[in-house]
Amino acid sequence: MRIVNAAGRAGLLADDGLVDVESASKGAFSADPQALLARWDDFRSWAAAYDGGATAPYDEERLEAPAPRPRQVFAIGLNYRDHAAESGMDLPDTPVVFTKFPASITGPSAVVGLPPGTVDFETELVVVLGRDAHRTPAAHAWDHVAGLTIGQDLSERQLQLKPPAPQFSLGKSYPGFAPMGPVLVTPDEFADRDDVVLGCRLNGEEMQKSRTGDMVFSVAELIAYLSAVVPLHAGDVIFTGTPAGIGMARTPARFLRPGDELVTFAEGIGSMRTTFVTAP
Ligand code: ZN
Repeated sequence: MRIVNAAGRAGLLADDGLVDVESASKGAFSADPQALLARWDDFRSWAAAYDGGATAPYDEERLEAPAPRPRQVFAIGLNYRDHAAESGMDLPDTPVVFTKFPASITGPSAVVGLPPGTVDFETELVVVLGRDAHRTPAAHAWDHVAGLTIGQDLSERQLQLKPPAPQFSLGKSYPGFAPMGPVLVTPDEFADRDDVVLGCRLNGEEMQKSRTGDMVFSVAELIAYLSAVVPLHAGDVIFTGTPAGIGMARTPARFLRPGDELVTFAEGIGSMRTTFVTAP
């Protein structure tokens, strides 16, 4: 099942267009994509029984984030071996966790303002929860996942790494620093939900390409680790870490500039296009 946020309304993608969830369910489900995630089990049952009906064309440019207002956004650092190596860091024994504040969320066709400093890209698989999870073992963790999408963990490196103690969250939470989309894809749609190819191209040049099978901590392990401490809510979002190829690790470093176009892609999900301007 492929779910979108079409100009603020939850939609189910069909072969020939979009099914508007609120209309097709005769109001049983809200049009609000975030509210839909809070009733994900009910929605899945309804969608499985839905026998098709009117579809409408939709404008890909007007798709928004599939989870636009999560209560919590988690992000994971150093979760690919090659990225830990390019960062000059040892592999962590446990996940490195920070947050991107939800105000940084934007959609898959965003124009993002670059603040002063050095803004970098990080292609990431994004997990959206469809059930609450607290003290959830890894063996059951996927039962709590609504679907997968792709995102960019945009990061202003000077603020992120400012001494004396780096505080990742603020430097990764400027407006538009958490683009995600274009589609939320349920885990059953993937040939292997634990091995998804993902990457990005900057102005047409491939900068990152990897597969989530190379993650140090799997999606299930991340949910188990986070939920051992924090009760997770349906609709919460996890940015699962970036592979090698970020701008900061290049020689010379390649940070984002006004006019750049960043295309982020994942097999089985699609691609999103983020363009950059100087922040007003
Ligand atoms: Zn990241």
